Amino acid sequence: MKIKKIYFPNTVREAVSLLGKKNSVYIAGSTYSFKNIPENTEIAICGRDLPISYIKKDQKYLILGAGSTFDQIEKNKLCSSLFDGLLSKAASACSSQLIRNMATVGGNLAHLNAFNLFPVLCSSLNANVRISLKGFSKIISWKELYLGRYKPGINCLITELLFPLNLSRNKFYFKKVSKIKSSWDSYITVCFRADIYKKKIKDLRLSVGAVRALPYIDEALEKDVIGKEINTELIKDISSRLESGVLSLHANSEINSYRASLAKNLSTDFLSGLMED
Ligand SMILES: Cc1cc2nc3c(=O)[nH]c(=O)nc-3n(C[C@H](O)[C@H](O)[C@H](O)COP(=O)(O)OP(=O)(O)OC[C@H]3O[C@@H](n4cnc5c(N)ncnc54)[C@H](O)[C@@H]3O)c2cc1C
Repeated sequence: MKIKKIYFPNTVREAVSLLGKKNSVYIAGSTYSFKNIPENTEIAICGRDLPISYIKKDQKYLILGAGSTFDQIEKNKLCSSLFDGLLSKAASACSSQLIRNMATVGGNLAHLNAFNLFPVLCSSLNANVRISLKGFSKIISWKELYLGRYKPGINCLITELLFPLNLSRNKFYFKKVSKIKSSWDSYITVCFRADIYKKKIKDLRLSVGAVRALPYIDEALEKDVIGKEINTELIKDISSRLESGVLSLHANSEINSYRASLAKNLSTDFLSGLMED
């Protein structure tokens, strides 16, 4: 590899215009890109000086600047209080302190990887992202990043992750089951959310990560249970359906059948807790 030029843009506009240069690569925390820089790369665009490392809220959203690190999120007061502290809890489950100091949330969302934490969180919290392209910026659903139109780090920069505050009164549940507590190689990562009113389900999201590149959800199941009273029988039905859905992703895999039983047990644990509220 022969890197001839390294840029440290300090505006998003400048960074986006540099993305257009031939054989260039955008680098944020470098925890993923360091080993994956294409051989023909000549230009490195480093995000270090970009003003996108903030965490704040406005009337509608909790806003994570895409340059925020897992360490910042773990320690931030908004992240440890809103959504039952879900984002801080999840950030603390990422690898080692060294990686958490460097890894950014923008880099985590830029490429799908089954073990990445932020796709599961975004899926559970119906997150949006702000992206900047040449000459304009726009807000899209996080899922649109992967439909082929936008190529993060190539034709656009992710600048913000937006988590809707109207969900902040919901109940949340995050668990990562792995060989050791902060292992990269998790068996499963789940992020569940429920809106319960007078024992009835108003909204449910059971998002399961590490089972495939995009987190697994069963939209039909989530729709079927709206308006139903939460009780032992319903919990059994929901968790069995979630187990079957995960199982069907890789029918003959032993590790996947273990993951499916984890999905069942963790969703039972979450939903049983809701009955007690
Ligand atoms: C040892 C180890 C353990 C890890 N453990 C975990 C773990 O437990 N959980 C987990 O989720 N991840 C884990 N990761 C994966 C990695 O750390 C994360 O995906 C991280 O968030 C990537 O962010 P980064 O800033 O380092 O991205 P970089 O490596 O700098 O960039 C990654 C890619 O994303 C693009 N990119 C970066 N920022 C943006 C942006 N703002 N807009 C558009 N494109 C962008 C870059 O161009 C590049 O292609 C681990 C990695 C390592 C090496």
